[in-house]
Amino acid sequence: MIEIQQEFLKCMRCGNCQAVCPIYKETKMEAEVARGKIQLIKGVTEGVLKPTEYLAEKIATCLTCLACQENCPSGVNYEKILLYGRDYLAKENGLPPVKKAIFKVLRKPRLFNFGLKMASRFQGLAMKKVKGRSGRKLRFGLLEDHENRLLPEFSKETLVEKARSKQTSGKEKLLYFPGCMINNVYVNVGEAVIDVLKHNGAQVVVPEKQSCCGTPARVHGDIESAKSLGRYVIDTYLATDADYVITSCSTCGVTLRQGYVELFTDEPEYLEKAKKLAEKTRDINEYLVEKGFIRPKKLNLKVTYHDPCHLNRKLKVNKQPREILKAVLGGNFREMKKPATCCGGAGSFSLTHYPLSKAIGRKKALDIIETGAEVVATSCPGCMLQLNDALAKQGSNIRVFHVAELLAEGYKEK
Ligand code: SF4
Ligand code: SF4
Repeated sequence: MIEIQQEFLKCMRCGNCQAVCPIYKETKMEAEVARGKIQLIKGVTEGVLKPTEYLAEKIATCLTCLACQENCPSGVNYEKILLYGRDYLAKENGLPPVKKAIFKVLRKPRLFNFGLKMASRFQGLAMKKVKGRSGRKLRFGLLEDHENRLLPEFSKETLVEKARSKQTSGKEKLLYFPGCMINNVYVNVGEAVIDVLKHNGAQVVVPEKQSCCGTPARVHGDIESAKSLGRYVIDTYLATDADYVITSCSTCGVTLRQGYVELFTDEPEYLEKAKKLAEKTRDINEYLVEKGFIRPKKLNLKVTYHDPCHLNRKLKVNKQPREILKAVLGGNFREMKKPATCCGGAGSFSLTHYPLSKAIGRKKALDIIETGAEVVATSCPGCMLQLNDALAKQGSNIRVFHVAELLAEGYKEK
């Protein structure tokens, strides 16, 4: 608590966070920008404010894009304050029953994976295919305002299943952590990651035991579920001796590199293990540039790049994807005006706050369209989902790919 109080004190209420907050730009509400939220969290944890549902909703209305933190002259650790506030409110108010039920299932990886498998079999009941686009739309208004939202399809075969037959030898042993989205939805991204790593001479193993990294639970204040998943991932990925653990999802990468170390400060055994895992973990872009990747044949495509917030601001991985894209595209790579602005996806935020998420996504789509690119590349499946929907809403045919997919394509051309 003392640490958090010191963070509260650092905020001098200058309002610099307002200038860069995607949510504040849409709503103009003080309670929805870092400065306002800090005061609300301070008030509720010091007993001046009541932990009402209204207050919990204001604290929930954040993309955790950390643009505010990057732009804060006082160096306030806003993320620390926000997560503390969410944990506090989850303890005071309890989690909403839907979230509680979701995280309960999430904590049981076998049950969760079985649920996703069933979703892949029966997705046709709830979602219809969209003509001329890859993706589906909900058949009924299951969630408010979601009827026209373009969603990706669940894959019939998971990445783990597909990778089973592809084990090979190589000079470095890499364990790949695909995360829920790539293992179940963007399986083609996972296959491209494996192809690219193998092309660069590595042995790639995808462990059979897969689970969510725990971030959705962590950011909603369910620490116990996040820890339970963290222990599962740590034990699975330290059980096999590997040179590196590779991630290709911005959020999973940050969780394995930094999140578990922050989560297990009060559990010495797991803190040590979390540090070991963190040392071994690399985002795919980072690994390839660090090792000096094999140059691909150039693709004749105009491509721009969207920076996933966490990869860019937390892991500082922003030059590496550009270096790879320039190797694949040469002069056909073009920057958008604001490549590092949040796309509005932010994981489950786009489910719980879709109208706001959609408005933020619209600005990102317009920025992408303005570049004249045929493809927007990124390094996070969550961003891919949001960008696909945002571009479709603008009637654009710009395609969305992971950087690894373009590099894999460049290798095929060789
Ligand atoms: S920019 Fe930093 S110091 Fe200024 S109001 Fe926002 S959080 Fe406080
Ligand atoms: S993390 Fe992003 S959305 Fe949340 S307050 Fe900061 S700038 Fe706004």
